[in-house]
Parts: sequence; structure tokens; C-alpha cells
Amino acid sequence: MSSFDCALVLPGGGNVMLNGKNAIVTGSTSGIGLEIAHGLAKQGARIMLNGFGDEQQIETTRVTMSEAYNVDVLYNGADMSKPNEIYAMVDQAGTAFGSVDILVNNAGIQHISVIEEFPVEKWDAIIAINLSSNFHTIRAAMPGMKKRNWGRIVNVASAHGLVASATKAAYVAAKHGVLGLTKVVALETATTGVTCNAICPGWVLTPLVQKQVDDRAERDSVSLERAKELLLSEKQPSKEFVTPAQIAALTVFLCSEDAAQMRGAAINIDGGWVAQ
Ligand code: NAD
Repeated sequence: MSSFDCALVLPGGGNVMLNGKNAIVTGSTSGIGLEIAHGLAKQGARIMLNGFGDEQQIETTRVTMSEAYNVDVLYNGADMSKPNEIYAMVDQAGTAFGSVDILVNNAGIQHISVIEEFPVEKWDAIIAINLSSNFHTIRAAMPGMKKRNWGRIVNVASAHGLVASATKAAYVAAKHGVLGLTKVVALETATTGVTCNAICPGWVLTPLVQKQVDDRAERDSVSLERAKELLLSEKQPSKEFVTPAQIAALTVFLCSEDAAQMRGAAINIDGGWVAQ
């Protein structure tokens, strides 16, 4: 058993590493965020889900998660492009749970276009959702974390926070910005029990990437399987997708006591993408 495994199950059984902690995971109705929410709930954290989607499906997710891990799970549909809704969400979590101890900034969107044709409203939306929302959630949650001298902030950035690709001006700019924000927050909290780190995934086969697979298949007149191979082989030396579960496990680790001195890190989990 590794020390990580030991940290997950406390003596006496039943108790888990994040028992009593309260987490907000933005963009957790789908893909990576949903898996991160499962990972944290499995460790005993109460969860505030957030994101868009079918109302009934979200309610089913909320109830299933709550019953599976025996933790309170709430949902707030705040639009991450709207600061007032973000502050209201953090406030609701703090009031309902008593504190916000873990904040995972994961909500994100993508738009692909050469810069001269990049719609201004898409630029504004990507900067708002993928970058500015992180500023607002952290700003809102920080006073409570500092007061309790414990907090974990995990920003889901991207390999595109470290390197660029053509046609992704807003996304690359936003994700580079997230890494800068992560470092500033890590420095401001360096002598406290609050940490702030970023995860930089490579390709993960979620709805966000499936759209790019579909577009590529259409553009190149190839099958979906071939389009996946083409996307992977251009960027990801492993030629395999990273899984949401792998990112959730890394997030859980960053929330552990073993990660207390990880501060301002940008951790790539990308099949070798940025090693090239
Ligand atoms: P996804 O499309 O499956 O999920 C995105 C989530 O964000 C959904 O829950 C959606 O409802 C929510 N969301 C979108 N706009 C929102 C808004 N305005 N307000 C609130 N919620 C909103 O995508 P994903 O691939 O799981 O992406 C999650 C994060 O991971 C994003 O930040 C993305 O940039 C990052 N990421 C993804 C990959 C990948 O290959 N999939 C790679 C690197 C980084």
C-alpha cells in the first residue's frame, strides 16, 4: 500500500480523507468536472455541483452522488461568465455547508478560429468563463479559507496553459492566464494552510473534445476513429487520451495533506504533450 492509499482510509474504516470538507467544483455536470466531483465525494467531501445541462439529469446526478458516497450534494447553476451569479454560488455553499474548503475551477469552453475571424463575443466568453471566473471564485472563497487556515484551490488549466496551438487564441490566452493567477494566489497564501495549484491536461475525450473530433472528421472526410488518431498523433506522444478519472485522482491528491507544500505548481498530465 502506498502512502497515498494510506491517506485515503483512516483507521476505524468508513472515514475518508476529506470528511468534513466542503467543495465547489465548477463545470461539474459533464466531463472532467463531473469525475472530479465524484472523486472528492468519494473521499467524504460535501459537494456543490455547478454547470449547465438537462435539469432532470442534473438532479439525478446530484441524488445518485449523494447516496453513493453518503455526503450532501447541492447544485447551483451559476453562469461562470456572470460575476454576480458566481458570488451568489460561493455564498450559498458557505451558508449551506458552513465553509468552502476546496475550490476546483474547472468550467471551460472552447472556440476554434484563426484570429482575424475570431468572433469578439467568443473571445469575451472564453476569457470570462475560462479565466475571470477563477479570479471571482477565489476572491470570494479566500477570506474563509484564510480565516480557517486551510484551503485547496485546484485550477483545471490545460497543456494549452504551457504551450500554444494555432486557432485557439482565446483558450490559450485564458489558460496561460490561469497559470499566472495560480502562481500569484500561491504566493499570497504561501505561509498559510491554503494552497493553489493548476492541472494541465492534454487531450481528454469529453464532450468539449468530441466536438473537435467531429469537426476534424468532417473537415478531413475521415471516420471518427481516424479523426481521434489524427488529433492524438499531432500533440500527444502516448497516442492515448488522458481519462477524467486520472485527473480526478490528481485533484484528490492535491487536496491531501501530502500535497501541503505543493504551491503554485502547473502539473501536466498530458501523455507527453509538453515534453516535446
Ligand atoms: P465539458 O464540455 O465536458 O464540460 C465543461 C463543463 O463546464 C460542463 O459542466 C459545462 O456545463 C460547464 N460550463 C460551460 N460553460 C459554463 C458556464 N458559462 N458556467 C458554468 N458552467 C459552464 O468539458 P471538459 O473537457 O470536461 O472540460 C473541463 C475543463 O477541462 C475545461 O476548463 C477545459 O478547458 C479543461 N481541459 C479539457 C481538456 C480536454 O481534452 N477535454 C484538456 C485540457 C483542459
